[in-house]
Amino acid sequence: MRRLPASSLACIALATSAIASLSGTDVAAGSATAVADGGCHYRLVITDQPVTRIDIRFSCAGDGPWRFGGHRLIPNDHVRNIRPGAGSLMSREGYDWIFSGSNGATRGAYSFDMMDLIASTNAVSIAQRHGSSLITSISSLLLYPVSRRLPLSLHFSVGAASQQEGGKIATAFHRTSTTQGEIQWINSQDVPDSGFMVLGRFAKRILAVPGRGSLARADEKAPYREGQAKIILAIVDPGLEGDAAVFDGWVSASAKLVAEYFRGFPARRTLLVILPVESRSGVFRGRVISGGGPTVLLTVGSKIDRAQLYDDWILLHELIHIGSPYLRLAGRWLNEGIAVYLQSVIHVRAGWLEADRIWRGFMHQMPRGLDALQGAGLGSARGIGGVYWGGSTFLLLADIDIRRRTNGGKTLGDCLRTVLWAGGDSSQVWTPERMMTVCDKAVGTDTMARLASQYVSRGSPLDLGRLWRDLGLIRDENGFRTDNKAPLAVIREAIMRKPPR
Ligand SMILES: [Zn+2]
Repeated sequence: MRRLPASSLACIALATSAIASLSGTDVAAGSATAVADGGCHYRLVITDQPVTRIDIRFSCAGDGPWRFGGHRLIPNDHVRNIRPGAGSLMSREGYDWIFSGSNGATRGAYSFDMMDLIASTNAVSIAQRHGSSLITSISSLLLYPVSRRLPLSLHFSVGAASQQEGGKIATAFHRTSTTQGEIQWINSQDVPDSGFMVLGRFAKRILAVPGRGSLARADEKAPYREGQAKIILAIVDPGLEGDAAVFDGWVSASAKLVAEYFRGFPARRTLLVILPVESRSGVFRGRVISGGGPTVLLTVGSKIDRAQLYDDWILLHELIHIGSPYLRLAGRWLNEGIAVYLQSVIHVRAGWLEADRIWRGFMHQMPRGLDALQGAGLGSARGIGGVYWGGSTFLLLADIDIRRRTNGGKTLGDCLRTVLWAGGDSSQVWTPERMMTVCDKAVGTDTMARLASQYVSRGSPLDLGRLWRDLGLIRDENGFRTDNKAPLAVIREAIMRKPPR
């Protein structure tokens, strides 16, 4: 029996043009508030290379009894040699194990058969082997208290045997410094939506980018101004061929662009798992899962080609997702609309693409969203056209409306940064309504509420031809030109211009 996370989203590929080739994106999150006391500590030990088994020891605060289960019900099939620790007792009840302890602690241990799990599944979000590394998720292998005093704080450490074998574990879990050193932890309620982790032998590099709020202007109300944020790059087999400095430079530069927009990179610590495809170049696919800390999985060609990397939008798209709350299925159009719209704007502001190429792309692709915008509304849109292009059209309309009604004083950026600073990053689940309310309040207009009443729960007529004319975007016999006398030409230019700091 297998239960997949309810919040898992999958996206498909679009084709061609500057901004067009949207491919697989997965966005998922959980909540991430720290728990003060109680909870469990886990020690994970990798005993062999390549990883076939993980030995797990746990100790929970309190005598219990605790009902231990696994999120996906997968662990049941692959748990071996489960047993109580000193002073503890264990019994079986249905799919679960009941543990009770003594003297304030409940202890137990089991081994998890990774070979067996991989043999029964071939999904990268569950477990997949790539050479001497494994991509998996803690939700695939963790037994944890599922019904008592939730949420619990689950702490993790990695056993010494792992290091002796040259094995490593990379996660995006939260980190806290204690007198015993740094601990990694997540909330038990985030386990079902927890992101990727990498085990085994893999290349690991840490890139520093400006931290949360660190680039905020003096007049901006960022609740934090942190030093540096970390991007942990975990590159699994077969590795990358060519100049790694070019690759690292591209990831750093992309993260810095996102940091500039959000006035600091939106998460303290992000795990970026690179899955190379042999003998190819370019970027193929990206996914984000953020429960317990944001993780991005990027599939790239093993041959590093600088021009192809900087021309591509997938990494920017995925990193932008980290700066907004996860809105589940009802708000998928808003999550994807933000990422598509911003990846385009940020790409141009960086000087990596020409503005005209993006505007031509918008004119070519945004009509694909009209069925949803004019029909049943974005709230029920499911395909690429409605979700991605209907969503990004909504965001373009919103950005224009905010700029017009505030005389250029506020922008969509003010709205999105306020949402982020109100705690709305990708590890948090919000409703689209909450996000739009915070946004409208931030800029002092009813832009989002009004556009939502027109295009979300139902559709309304939308004259895109008129919008392009007002923006001064003209298709003529030579193909395409801009008209700087058009009523919204100033806004068109301002959208793509890097604002002064
Ligand atoms: Zn996306």
